[in-house]
Amino acid sequence: MIVFKSAEALKKHILQQRNSDIKLGFVPTMGALHAGHLSLIKASQSENDLSICSIFVNPTQFNDPKDFAKYPITLEKDIKWLIKQETDILFLPLVHEIYPNGLKNLAHFDLGHLETVLEGPTRPGHFQGVCQVMSRLLDIVKADNLYMGQKDYQQCMVVKKLITLMGSKTILHPCPTLREKDGLAMSSRNMLLNEEGRQIAPAIYETLNYLKKNIQAGNLQTLKEEGKQKLKQKGIKVDYVEIADADNLEIASNYDGKQTLVGLIAAFIQDVRLIDNMRLTQIEN
Ligand code: AMP
Repeated sequence: MIVFKSAEALKKHILQQRNSDIKLGFVPTMGALHAGHLSLIKASQSENDLSICSIFVNPTQFNDPKDFAKYPITLEKDIKWLIKQETDILFLPLVHEIYPNGLKNLAHFDLGHLETVLEGPTRPGHFQGVCQVMSRLLDIVKADNLYMGQKDYQQCMVVKKLITLMGSKTILHPCPTLREKDGLAMSSRNMLLNEEGRQIAPAIYETLNYLKKNIQAGNLQTLKEEGKQKLKQKGIKVDYVEIADADNLEIASNYDGKQTLVGLIAAFIQDVRLIDNMRLTQIEN
């Protein structure tokens, strides 16, 4: 595995590789890698000749400075895992490589409705930060294929929109969520939970399953409330329990019996904010 810290050096290397007819896959991460991240790298390796992983804890996407300060960093272990996984390239930039002109006056992206629902209002500026880092990374790597997790459902939709806004040729491949045996979606943040928190955390997955099992045509308000109650009973602080159109994330208050809907949850366990989602109708998750 070749490790690049400089964007220019990485660009130069990629350009050299581009002389031959190779496919380039890209997996951006914030590190503290787990099997979910590795599944994206495997997906990239199965469809490309060269796979690049990046590790960069992007300061501009953290609306809460405390969240940024406590974000887990396990770089040595990450590098070992990536080597074991036979990743070709690791891009490990410092902040000035991604934001050469500093963190002020960064580009603004018109995300429309996507920024006004769910994670949008609860994490102001988060998706602007995601677009700021992703636009730069996409521009540096110019990958053929980009692999991101459906665990961050809204993020996938935001990045898809960003790719259109940028006129980029990169194709986004949303990949399935990897879960622990008890259903908890794998997340770098899980390691911030203590034993007690870890024990109650699968309630998020159980609640999504409850929504899926009990969804019926008609008004969805009672079902959403039941979902919230299930989490509260376990001592979990609910940010939102929502049901939305899986194609455009319009919040659904009614189910017509045919729509493709997705259930989305954000909740705090011991001050750690966890998110998860599940297709509720039509397509199996
Ligand atoms: P992060 O390091 O949390 O920014 O995540 C990097 C990428 O890994 C994103 O595209 C995430 O959606 C994806 N990811 C995170 N958790 C999982 C998971 N449990 N299963 C599959 N992909 C995941």
